[in-house]
Amino acid sequence: MSHTDNKLHTTTTFPHFGTDAIHAGQTPDPHSGAVMIPISLSTTFAQTSPGVPYPGNFEYARSANPTRDAFEKNIAALEGAKFGLSFSSGLGATSIIINSLKRGDHVISVDDVYGGTGRLFRTIASDYGIEFTYIDFNVEGALEKAIQPNTKLVWLETPTNPTLRLSDVSQVAEVAHKHNAILVVDNTFMSPYFQRPLSLGADVVMHSVTKYINGHSDTVMGVIATNNETWYGKFKYLQNAMGITPSPFDCFLALRGIKTLHVRMQRHEQNATALARWMEGHEKISKIAYPGLESHPQHDLAKKQMRGFGGMITFWIKGGITQSRQFLENLKVFTLAESLGGVESLVNHPAIMTHASVPADVRAKLGIDDTLIRLSVGIENSEDIIEDVKQALEKVNVYEEASPVVEKVAEH
Ligand SMILES: *Cc1c(COP(=O)(O)O)cnc(C)c1O
Repeated sequence: MSHTDNKLHTTTTFPHFGTDAIHAGQTPDPHSGAVMIPISLSTTFAQTSPGVPYPGNFEYARSANPTRDAFEKNIAALEGAKFGLSFSSGLGATSIIINSLKRGDHVISVDDVYGGTGRLFRTIASDYGIEFTYIDFNVEGALEKAIQPNTKLVWLETPTNPTLRLSDVSQVAEVAHKHNAILVVDNTFMSPYFQRPLSLGADVVMHSVTKYINGHSDTVMGVIATNNETWYGKFKYLQNAMGITPSPFDCFLALRGIKTLHVRMQRHEQNATALARWMEGHEKISKIAYPGLESHPQHDLAKKQMRGFGGMITFWIKGGITQSRQFLENLKVFTLAESLGGVESLVNHPAIMTHASVPADVRAKLGIDDTLIRLSVGIENSEDIIEDVKQALEKVNVYEEASPVVEKVAEH
């Protein structure tokens, strides 16, 4: 059964993103006329004769169900893709992509990859015989040099987490294709509203829906979007065969969240821009990274391949872990918590929190030190956000000596 066979929800697309965000993949329920897609809990679907399903073409809910189908069609439309598939988490989506490879295949990944993705590559996929090389795509010729005869896949995150470095998607796609490898882009940080990697030459896009797409920090989920029928077929097969599927309730929440994606992203960016401009040059900040600032080393590339600059800001506070703690303990609008992309502002200390699973030497090489702080700027009032950062910075004593770092034990 193929994705396009499902008749319940159409994939009619509209000229503009905001209309697709609200309507793509969704038509009133054919039985009740319900305007919002119902949460379809049935695990099984009646057949009129063996092998002849009802018009919706559903059989068993792990393979496909109406709520998930609507969400998958919607995200496909927003990424400009023919096919969309959803999973129980972002890492579930990544697992499916990696499992579509064979023992002995080689993957080239950005060195500053999301912590959990790196952990999956280093500690699980490597054990199953997939080979990995980690590179900085901005080093001239690094990609060409890393290519091997068995290179099948190039894995990119742009901007990266947490240092917000960009890679030129079109250039990387060109080199990957020249060597018969596919390019996968983790588009979590930008969302399809600000960046559409398939239009830049990527073959596959993945997201942690947990972040901006759902946008309300209340569901863990992932997606893949692609125009490539062969790879779609592999992913679709594995989605069912490995069973890494989201619940209908998760799909309902994500579908509900995605309806405001364009409006939320606009406000995330407005607030992040105002805050980044206010923070830049502050006496207690040694460096700030936000792709929308002219001082970002890849600001021109950001303008070229993205439609906006997003809601994530990373900065390095002057001092050490003591100063980081003073800042983090005094925030009131920002909540100190892992994750990002929700309507609420969050702050994270990657070295101790999200990136604890990254080996210490790799962290040091990437500049993820004790003074690095990552902000996920929410959509609250922008003046309140700036005031919060201002008052927390006032509490920071740059002269206080650093205390030893206490490493976190648990990983996520
Ligand atoms: C959170 C995140 C993931 C993993 O997604 P989960 O939904 O937590 O499994 C992958 N990539 C990036 C960039 C992320 O921020």
